[in-house]
Amino acid sequence: MADLSAFSLEGRVALVTGGGRGIGLSFAKALAKAGAALVINDFRADTADEACHAVEAMGGKARPAVFDVTDFDRLEAHVDGIARDLGRLDILVNNAGILIRAPIEDHGMPDFTRVIDTNLNAVYAVSRACARPMKAQGGGRIINVGSVMSISSRPGIISYVAAKHGVLGLTRGLAAELGPYNITVNAIGPGYILTEMNRHVLGTPFEQAVIDRTPMARWASPEELTGTAVFLASDAAGFVTGQLLMVDGGMTSNSILVESENLGASS
Ligand code: NDP
Repeated sequence: MADLSAFSLEGRVALVTGGGRGIGLSFAKALAKAGAALVINDFRADTADEACHAVEAMGGKARPAVFDVTDFDRLEAHVDGIARDLGRLDILVNNAGILIRAPIEDHGMPDFTRVIDTNLNAVYAVSRACARPMKAQGGGRIINVGSVMSISSRPGIISYVAAKHGVLGLTRGLAAELGPYNITVNAIGPGYILTEMNRHVLGTPFEQAVIDRTPMARWASPEELTGTAVFLASDAAGFVTGQLLMVDGGMTSNSILVESENLGASS
């Protein structure tokens, strides 16, 4: 039988940004189940505390870290405090993200900048802060959360598309920079996942359009991303770096045309 101990995260310390709910909370629970001690970051103390209780209720270890990932001046102090208190920092999951939907004429610089700050600049800033303790301890794992929008686009979410494309670039750039220090940097590219971020599209034509464009013909749950995160965080992925691993039900491997649109087309 195969030795599965390479997938264990026993003895590791993991920081998940925006881990209070949604996809981030699922990542936190899965990493804890695999053996890691969790530090759950979120904006709000109550959200972070609740997430920690949820991890502890399933037998895991977790502590909250309440800060805004766009508070760039104070990130290093937050991260250094975590590494000092827990003795190490092995895994960073850059999950915190926001989405502002608006056509270009209604999407001014404050909103554009907010999305880029949260979804892209913070990925760099938190990674940079974590790289220091990871280098000092001889290695680490950085996992960024991309999107199908890291390699495609659609109207009405231009800042999100720009940020998520940037996350792919950052993943490759950081992988090149940090590889010599035994720090791997990869991204997960989720397809459409039911969370607060997109719950409002339930029952609209968009919900069905996602299904039509996904070979697996459904939306996914946050839990369906977690096996990939555990793998990328583990020793089993020790030579995997600079990659965007799509977990999208085949959406981005698919033609953007659905069958009904394709009828009569010659190719
Ligand atoms: P949610 O909105 O459900 O959760 C995002 C979490 O991030 C919230 O807990 C939020 O806090 C927190 N957060 C937002 N901004 C900050 C900040 N500046 N500092 C600290 N925490 C912050 O989103 P999802 O779980 O759906 O998304 C998680 C990630 O997955 C994002 O990067 C998103 O882009 C990506 N993704 C999501 C997909 C989907 O279909 N849902 C598809 C592809 C990618 P608060 O609760 O206080 O707002």
